[in-house]
Amino acid sequence: MSDLYARHKAVLPDWLALYYQDPLEITHGEGRHVWDADGNKYLDFFGGILTTMTAHALPEVTKAVSEQAGRIIHSSTLYLNRPMVELAERIAQLSGIPDARVFFTTSGTEANDTALLLATAHRRSNQILAMRNSYHGRSFSAVGITGNKGWSPTSLSPLQTLYVHGGVRTRGPYAGLPDAEFIAACVEDLRDLLGHVRPPAALIAEPVQGVGGFTIPPDGLYAAFREVLDEHGILWIADEVQTGWGRTGEHFWGWQAHDAAGPPDMLTFAKGIGNGMSIGGVVARAEIMNCLDSNSISTFGGSPVTMAAGLANLAYLLEHDLQGNARRVGGLLIERLRAIAAQVDGVREVRGRGLMIGVELVKPGTDEAHPEGAAAVLEAAREEGLLIGKGGGHDTSVLRIAPPLSLTVAEAEEGAAILDRALRCTR
Ligand code: PMP
Repeated sequence: MSDLYARHKAVLPDWLALYYQDPLEITHGEGRHVWDADGNKYLDFFGGILTTMTAHALPEVTKAVSEQAGRIIHSSTLYLNRPMVELAERIAQLSGIPDARVFFTTSGTEANDTALLLATAHRRSNQILAMRNSYHGRSFSAVGITGNKGWSPTSLSPLQTLYVHGGVRTRGPYAGLPDAEFIAACVEDLRDLLGHVRPPAALIAEPVQGVGGFTIPPDGLYAAFREVLDEHGILWIADEVQTGWGRTGEHFWGWQAHDAAGPPDMLTFAKGIGNGMSIGGVVARAEIMNCLDSNSISTFGGSPVTMAAGLANLAYLLEHDLQGNARRVGGLLIERLRAIAAQVDGVREVRGRGLMIGVELVKPGTDEAHPEGAAAVLEAAREEGLLIGKGGGHDTSVLRIAPPLSLTVAEAEEGAAILDRALRCTR
C-alpha cells in the first residue's frame, strides 16, 4: 500500500471508494491522457464524465481561469457578476427551455437538490417520482430519491419517493419487449402508480442512466410519460449531469432523444461544463424558478473563476463541434467494441450513444452479473495504460467508457485494442 493511500485510509471515510487495488494518484494531464505519480501515462476513457469534458489541460480553459484568477476570485453573489450572467445567457439559450432562468451551484447534487426544492415548492407536494436504478447525488434529499441502492446509504429521506420502471431496457420485468410495447408497459405501470397517490411534484430522470451503467431507454419513453405527467400536473426534471453538452452525439441534451415531449420543465447540469472546475446548475422556466417566497443563494455557485472556465470550455466545444466528434468517433468505437464482444465470452451487451458507452459483463455461459470480471478488466486495462470506469445496479458489472469529447479516431482504436486484450485475459 502506498504511503499516500495509507494516509487516505486513515483520515478519509471508508465509503469514499477508490478504483484499483493500488489506487492511482494522477498528477497531470494533457488532451486525452493523464500521468500518475510514478510517471506512467494513461489514455483516459473515463475522465470525460468525471469532469474533464473537453480535454485535459485545455489551453483555452487554463488561460481563462488564470486570467480571471489574476483579476478577482471573490465570489460575488451579492454583486453583479459578468461571467455568471454571460454563461447563464448561453446556457439558457442552449437549454431549449422557454423563458429560461439559470441558477448556478457547485455540484450536480446541489443542482438536483435545488430542482427538488423548486418542484416541491411549486407543486406543494413532497412526493417525487424517480426511476429505478437512478443516481442523483449524495445530499440527504438526493440520496433519498436515488434508485440505485448501492449509492443510497440511508432509507430515511425528507421526501417520499415512488420508483418508476423504464430506465433499464434490458433487465427487469419488461426486458425483451419491443420498444413500443416496453414503453406501453412502463406507461401502464406509471398510471397504475399514480392511481393510488396524491400527485407527486415531479418526475426526475437521467435520459441515459450514468452511474446505473449507461442504460438507454427506448427513444420517446419520456414523451409517453410526459402525457401522463401532464394529466396529473407533475413536472419533468431531466438530470443532464452526465448526458448534457453533446456527450450522446446525436443530441446536445439527452432529453432530445424523447423530442416529442419538448423540453423538460427543468434540467440540471454539472460535471463537464467547467472542464474540471466545479460548476453545477438548474435551468427552469421562470414561473418555476421564481416560485420561492424567500431569498436563497449559493456562496460559491457562479464563482467568476469557474464561470470563466465554463465560458471558455463551452466556446471550444461549440467551435470544434465536439458533439459531432462524439457522434463520429463514438459510433466507430461502439462498432469496434461490438466486434470485439462477438469474439469473447461474457459480454452481455455493448450499448452506447456518442461517447457514453457501456459494456455489460456476465459470468461466462450465464446471464448473471459479473462484478469481479468488471473489476478485473479495469485492472488489466490499467496495466496496459487505459483508464475506464464501471457502474451498474448493486452488481457493478458494466464497464463505462466516457472519454473527453475531443477523442481522436487513433485514440479510440488504441483504447479498443487494449480493451480487446483486457476482456480476453480475464475470462
Ligand atoms: N446526477 C447524476 C446523473 C450524476 O451522475 C451525478 C454524479 N455522478 C450527480 C447527479 C451528482 O453530481 P455531483 O457528484 O457533482 O454532486
